[in-house]
Order: sequence, then C-alpha cells, then structure tokens
Amino acid sequence: MPIDLHTHSTRSDGTATPAELVTEAVARGLDVVGLTDHDTAAGWPEAAEAAARHRITLVRGMEISATYDGRSVHLLAYLPDPTYPPLLEELVRIGAGRDGRLPMMVERLQGMGIDITEEDIRGAGESGAVIGRPHVADALVAKGVVGDRNEAFETMLGPGGAAYVSRYATPLLDGIDLVRAAGGVSVIAHPWGRSRVLSEDALAFLAERGLTGIEVDHQNHTPEQRESLRGIAGELGLVATGSSDFHGTGKVDHELGCNTTDPAQYARLVTAATRSREASGRPAPGVLEP
Ligand code: AMP
Ligand code: ZN
Ligand code: FE
Ligand code: FE
Repeated sequence: MPIDLHTHSTRSDGTATPAELVTEAVARGLDVVGLTDHDTAAGWPEAAEAAARHRITLVRGMEISATYDGRSVHLLAYLPDPTYPPLLEELVRIGAGRDGRLPMMVERLQGMGIDITEEDIRGAGESGAVIGRPHVADALVAKGVVGDRNEAFETMLGPGGAAYVSRYATPLLDGIDLVRAAGGVSVIAHPWGRSRVLSEDALAFLAERGLTGIEVDHQNHTPEQRESLRGIAGELGLVATGSSDFHGTGKVDHELGCNTTDPAQYARLVTAATRSREASGRPAPGVLEP
C-alpha cells in the first residue's frame, strides 16, 4: 500500500498540474498521495476531482514556510480547514513576503548583468501560482544563464548567494498552533535536510507543543539520519512519515513514491487529524477515499 505524503504541483513550484500529479501517482502504483504545495491550498479542488476519477486516496495538505531560531523550517500541515481566517491571513502574509522579495531579487540579478524582469519570473509559473525561487531559477534557465534549477540555487539563489533575499515566514510555534486550531495536524518536513536545523531537544519541545510528526524518509536525509530520526520519533511518540517531495521535472531524484510512509504510521496520522478536527470545531476536510 504505497503512501506518498509530500508533493508539489504547478500551484506552487512543481511542474505537474494537480490533476497530472494525481494521474502520475496512480501510474506509479500509489494508493495514497498527499498534495502539499508551498503556502497554498489552491490545488485541492482539482486534485480532489482527479482523485475521485482515478480511485486513489488523497490527503490534502500544504507546506508552510516557517522559521525557528532564525532558520527556515518547512511545516507540513495536513487536513486543516483552509477557510479558517487566521490561517488564511497567515498565508496571505507569506505571499506578501514572496511578492515583496521578487523586485529585490530582480534588482540583484540585473546588478549582476543578467537581463531579467519580474514578468519573466512570474511567467515561469502558472497564473496565480505561489512564486518562489524555483521560478526565478526557471526564468534563468529559459534565458540560458544556468543549465537547471539546481545550478541556479548553487550559484546564486541559495542562502548566501548573490541574488538571495530572505522573506517573511511564520514563527514555527505559531504555525503549529494555527494548523491545530484549523483542525489539522503538523509534520516537520525534512528536519535534517541540507542543514540540521532542528536538534533532538528542539523536536522534543515541539512534540510537547503540539507537533504530530516528522518526515523521516526524505531524499535529503542520509540512511544514518533516517535511522536517528526514526528513533527520535519513536521515543517522542511522533508519527514518522516518508515521502518523495515530488516537484515534477523541477527537482531531480525526487520521483513520486521514492520514499513512502508506513501504513501504520499513516493510520496514526489520520487518527490524529480526526481528533484535531473534532477538537477544533472547524469543518476541516477528511482524507478523500475513492
Ligand atoms: P522559496 O519558496 O522561494 O523559499 O524556494 C524554496 C524552494 O526551492 C524549496 O521549497 C524547494 O522546493 C526549492 N529548492 C531549494 N533548493 C533547490 C535546488 N537545489 N534545486 C531545485 N529546487 C530547490
Ligand atoms: Zn518546493
Ligand atoms: Fe520543503
Ligand atoms: Fe516540499
């Protein structure tokens, strides 16, 4: 029963539409797919419609840009009520941070002698998509400045890069509280990917503060990190998930289903979400079963 709980569509920085993503998940033999675009639930209706047509279980979520101790953390929110006003307001605030950063990045790139405009970058994404650095990368690829997204991040867009500009992200504890109040559950995405942002002590603190799980099996984690994280999740009573973080052709080595979530862990996650929904009194969505 392959379960992949973290994917991106064209509503953020993935390259497959929500419907294409669902179709591809079916083709890959997945039984459960989670759609978790960055800071938006905009892909949910299209994914839900496709999932019903293709007989696959859909878990609706999002990956919220958060910050802890001054560092970037990605918070996977599963099954929150996307109409909960405080959550909506927070997503608007994050979007405004993204919008405000774009002209500054353009200015830096132009200062580096690169002929690029905000329209070039927005044009790299679907209309209305949450625009991020991957779209800047795509515009740079289209102009022949770099060969692929990865090269763009490594040479100019990553932290410390010449075109890097930081932006607003939600304080992590506020994010966890918001997701819970919206009737959903929180899972820290790739906690030890790239940089080891969250210590074991921090994870223990977050578990007490309402975190439900951690993403253990992720491409950015080494086998040793996965085993340590699995042990920590077990000790802290956190759900251990596994996912691809699929971005279509936008991210190599993140194929759908390349990591999966154990069915028993998935069942715990769904139970926790049901409890959260009941406690919140919000009309949070359930898992969409075919
Ligand atoms: P932003 O949303 O603008 O902060 O951009 C961050 C996103 O860029 C992450 O969520 C990843 O999806 C993507 N990303 C980060 N590093 C890379 C990379 N080396 N290659 C491709 N995509 C990346
Ligand atoms: Zn992404
Ligand atoms: Fe992420
Ligand atoms: Fe992601």
